[in-house]
Amino acid sequence: MRPYEPNRIEEKWQAYWEKNKTFKAERDSSKKKFYLLEMFPYPSGRIHMGHVRNYTIGDTLARFKRMKGFNVIHPLGWDAFGMPAENAAIKNNTHPAKWTFENIRIMREQIKALGLSYDWDREIATCHPGYYKWNQWLFLKFLEKGIAYRKNSTINWCEICQTVLANEQVVDGCCWRCDNEVIQKQQEGWFFKITDYADRLLEGCKNLSGKWPEQVLTMQNNWIGKSFGAEVDFKIKDSDHAIKVFTTRPDTLYGAMFMVLAPEHPFTFELSRGTEQESEVDTFVKKVNRQDTIARTSDTGNKEGVFIGAYAINPLTGESIPVWTANFVLMDYGTGAIMSVPAHDQRDLDFARKYNLPVRVVIQPKNETLDEKTMTQAFSSDGAMIYSEKFDGLIGQEARKKVCEYLSKERIGKATVNFRLRDWGVSRQRYWGTPIPVVHCDVCGIVPVKYNQLPVELPLEVQLGEKGQSPLHTLESFYKTKCPTCKAPAKRDTDTLDTFICSSWYFDRYTSARLEDNPFSLEDNDYWMPVDQYVGGIEHAILHLLYARFFNLVLNDIGLTQTKEPFDHLLTQGMVIKDGAKMSKSKGNVVDPDEIIKKYGADTARIFILFAAPPVKDLEWSDQGVEGCFRFLKRVWRIFSEYVDVIKTASPPDGNFSTSINELKELRRITHVTIRRVTEDIEKRMQFNTAIAAIMEWVNHLYHFKEWEKKQSETKDDIKAVIREAMETLILTLAPFAPHIAQEMAVEMNFSDALDENKWPLYKENLTQTDEILIVLQVNGKVRQKIQVASGVSDEDLKLLSLNEPRIQEWIQDKEIKKVIIVPKKLVNIVVK
Ligand SMILES: [Zn+2]
Ligand SMILES: [Zn+2]
Repeated sequence: MRPYEPNRIEEKWQAYWEKNKTFKAERDSSKKKFYLLEMFPYPSGRIHMGHVRNYTIGDTLARFKRMKGFNVIHPLGWDAFGMPAENAAIKNNTHPAKWTFENIRIMREQIKALGLSYDWDREIATCHPGYYKWNQWLFLKFLEKGIAYRKNSTINWCEICQTVLANEQVVDGCCWRCDNEVIQKQQEGWFFKITDYADRLLEGCKNLSGKWPEQVLTMQNNWIGKSFGAEVDFKIKDSDHAIKVFTTRPDTLYGAMFMVLAPEHPFTFELSRGTEQESEVDTFVKKVNRQDTIARTSDTGNKEGVFIGAYAINPLTGESIPVWTANFVLMDYGTGAIMSVPAHDQRDLDFARKYNLPVRVVIQPKNETLDEKTMTQAFSSDGAMIYSEKFDGLIGQEARKKVCEYLSKERIGKATVNFRLRDWGVSRQRYWGTPIPVVHCDVCGIVPVKYNQLPVELPLEVQLGEKGQSPLHTLESFYKTKCPTCKAPAKRDTDTLDTFICSSWYFDRYTSARLEDNPFSLEDNDYWMPVDQYVGGIEHAILHLLYARFFNLVLNDIGLTQTKEPFDHLLTQGMVIKDGAKMSKSKGNVVDPDEIIKKYGADTARIFILFAAPPVKDLEWSDQGVEGCFRFLKRVWRIFSEYVDVIKTASPPDGNFSTSINELKELRRITHVTIRRVTEDIEKRMQFNTAIAAIMEWVNHLYHFKEWEKKQSETKDDIKAVIREAMETLILTLAPFAPHIAQEMAVEMNFSDALDENKWPLYKENLTQTDEILIVLQVNGKVRQKIQVASGVSDEDLKLLSLNEPRIQEWIQDKEIKKVIIVPKKLVNIVVK
């Protein structure tokens, strides 16, 4: 008997699949398609167990669907632009392109060693001009549609590094790289009008319910944050100005005791000018400019503010109320100003108590009286309006509606809808990204590069600044150009596009990966899209998945795709943890996939990853678990080896097959029950762990069967047929999980050298039935137990079984048995005295 040699088998079949392009996907309108996609990796260096898990889950499904007769497309590529490449390049004194392509080469090799069923002819890398050319092309389309526009926004700026920092790169108000204080600065840049799509994105979430994890949909809903309310104008005392605020609670307007402006609000400086508060406001705003927005708005962050020296008029009470500025109000949200109703908003109440500002109750809870002097908990639920003149007694929706009608009639406000979602800022002051295809001309303003001039290539012959500044800003040979319209000297945009743009449509590009005259073809896109099953990490719940959905809607509007939602089903897999923590270099608990493959083979790694936990749950790494899976595959190999010569030429039972031998009946039954369990675990529940457990139990049974079979004088044809059926189905059901060993066995058994072309086995319902019947056991006419027995059991055996049943023995011990009444196939009644 040959030993199980995973490395030999795996290398052989991986080479075979590559050479034969086994997994090449081609359009075929006669077949139903299935688009299986895992989120494409960032080429950071080497693959980790999180990748292995992601791709193994996806691959198992892809192979399963292929066996179910679908025309499967399963591509992979590289999300290859982005900052880590730049940082690594600076650190290692290399070029981002060199670093990136070298990483891709290494990771591609590692991924191939896992035996994944990718169509490598569709591989893409977003940093390749053949890809980012289409980022630019799409940008120009967005510009034509008015979806791309320029505006000023507040950015985090490091003066020393001369660069913009993302919120995550600001640590305690300082630059993550040089520790210098970060300042907030206004800068013009490109934005995508995702806010125009807020309602359609919300509508789409409803349709995805049941197909995406509810948690992800909730996160997207909250991120979009649609709220109904009113916009109200508060006049500034002794001035022509009015401050607009948005409130979801117009029914609390009578309790608005002060206003708060964002420190960045233009009125903050303007209104404090010439007042006693002027210098205090200046100092305060400078201080807030050094705080990052996350700390400013978190529930636990320190809320602080100052009076700006001006008063506003509450439009309903006519009272003068003080205007403050505070760190927790952001310019980017709503109007950058809020009305504060301390009795009915906890943050406002905390602020009022801290600075001794007045509190007034204007909403009355049902069974409780609030004391505005002492209350520490704001009452933020619905209740009857009080202290609100003609509105007194109105409650909730009705109250808000009436107040809005009044505001509108008096022209001091109106009912409106507000979104938390902001437009998507896409300019990055970085080098390693897609150059923005516009030219700035002194005469014509902003001029798009002509389509036939694309791509605007990212120059590779550059020296990266030590501090991480983009060389594009100072590289004359790049930015010096001619205006496409008036031919005067002009300057290219020196920013690059956010890499989230690359990942917002890469799944479309896969459908026509090598097309040269369009980003993708309508026919290809029509046939393959949407992605039927998307697999990736929960960390992409908001940004990537929201941007991709937005992009798709725009592409749909432009007529480039018929699809409305790009990802029909989404699975977010759990993390891989070890010793209770996520695997990470800093924790020193990383297991290298290469070592596991070298020691046990890819099939063992795949089986362990799938068996150790359901896909959506976290997976705890266990060396013993890996050993156990390796032993399981060795057991599969051994039982197969023992039978292969005997059954090589046998055929499985046909429709007329029948046998009276219980052992054969039982093996057939377990074979068919296992097919059913595995099929339903994959198809209905995506529980690969229980599917594999079912196969393991079955293998155990095969070993039991072997004990019986050894005792037979010869292996007759009926025995061979039943074993052949069991071994064939074992190979086929194992194939999506452990494709190499399955392929090897299939060939040795002479039934397939292209296993994935094989049909997934179907179970026969009648063969899954047990021959057992349920018998009710009574003692003196009272039901005391129920037992399962073989249907052909004799009365004598049934009597013995009943009397020996432990529960029955408790009732009959020390008693005289008068008689035993047997109703065949139903009941045994033991009469005792
Ligand atoms: Zn810095
Ligand atoms: Zn011009």
